[in-house]
Amino acid sequence: MKITIHRGTHQIGGCVTEYESEGWRLFVDYGEELQGGPKSGTLKVEGLTHGDLTKSALLITHYHGDHIGCITELPEELPIYMSEMGREIQLVLSDHLKSVDNVQQKMLDKLQKVNTFKPGAKFAFGPFSIMPIIVDHSAFEACAFKITAQQRVFHTGDFRTHGFRSGTLPKVIKKYIGKVDYVVCEGTNVHRPDATSVSEPELQKQYASRFREHKCNVIYLSSSNIDRLFGLYHAARKADRPFIVDAYQRRMMDAVTKRDHIWGKSELYQYDKTYPPMTLQYEDNEFRLNDKFRYLLEQKGYVLIARANDRFDNFIERLPGDKHKYLSMWKGYVEVGREAYNPRLASSLGTDYEYLHTSGHCDMKSLRELFHLLSPMSIIPIHTEEPEAFANLFSYEYTITVLNDGESVTLSGDRPV
Ligand SMILES: [Zn+2]
Ligand SMILES: [Zn+2]
Repeated sequence: MKITIHRGTHQIGGCVTEYESEGWRLFVDYGEELQGGPKSGTLKVEGLTHGDLTKSALLITHYHGDHIGCITELPEELPIYMSEMGREIQLVLSDHLKSVDNVQQKMLDKLQKVNTFKPGAKFAFGPFSIMPIIVDHSAFEACAFKITAQQRVFHTGDFRTHGFRSGTLPKVIKKYIGKVDYVVCEGTNVHRPDATSVSEPELQKQYASRFREHKCNVIYLSSSNIDRLFGLYHAARKADRPFIVDAYQRRMMDAVTKRDHIWGKSELYQYDKTYPPMTLQYEDNEFRLNDKFRYLLEQKGYVLIARANDRFDNFIERLPGDKHKYLSMWKGYVEVGREAYNPRLASSLGTDYEYLHTSGHCDMKSLRELFHLLSPMSIIPIHTEEPEAFANLFSYEYTITVLNDGESVTLSGDRPV
């Protein structure tokens, strides 16, 4: 088997990886480069963007734009695979955005033809055997893949080990993956040692205690960060504050609760019947705040999940009480001078807010534990700005293969003794 990293050896957004065996090609992810980050521009890849596609397929690890965002540009005949729930969330997201972004209409059309897989159910493509497993990430039902064709490779995708479900990862690895020969590994947090200092359950506790303390709470977070949304819902319930979302965020949550498969069994994704989320209604293109609603919020306080736009800004202005604002996403978005700076978010959030967030990506200590389980002969870092720093961290225990974009490595089956 041969691995080529077409993009992502020295940047976080837009990773594209190719696995090739006996003339068959399996690609993983085809997303956008991050705003303001390094840009390599439009990719031209034989067997993916053009040429003979009869022995090619694309796997999507999860619905974040830097992993799926460019699939609308790919030829019709290229088969694409993603997880069932990942596809469903992307459908809600694209449907919501289609009126302001016409690429999202194309995405909706594309998703109609996407093949779905179930995590834990192995499937084959040409000489490849593919085992998808669920990993914890800030996208719902994000997947990692074990890809086998002579050699065994574990492709991590984006993941973390400090989320609600992460405790099961070692068991899942033992049951579905076992030992592998190579790991293609994300290294986002190689230089962000503080990004994971709190676990998602701990963060939820912190929010619950803030919601008891502060009556009126406004939180900015990514609507597709489903675990955080549900974590905040339960934190608000514990503090007995009304939990308020708009129709889009409600659809995101409902997409998960309405499932009758494994997710429905988790208490995290269930609404308390006596405490359903409140969904904002529209009136004259604004959110309605009638006397009855205002009275309730004055009495009970609230936890509002907000987004940075005029409608929310106006609504928050009209809300009663002394508002305590929180930023529940990476703070780089509101730091002036950062590549990812989002002026719209910075303006809605203002300067008086509390930062309560934890990363969707793994810290380096947890990566080491994962490598111990997988016992690879070599590791290829991607989805990182600092592959050399990654190599420095792990090279005394493992062979770290640092590639440049477009470079390949041919895997050998010989393990060093
Ligand atoms: Zn991601
Ligand atoms: Zn990513």
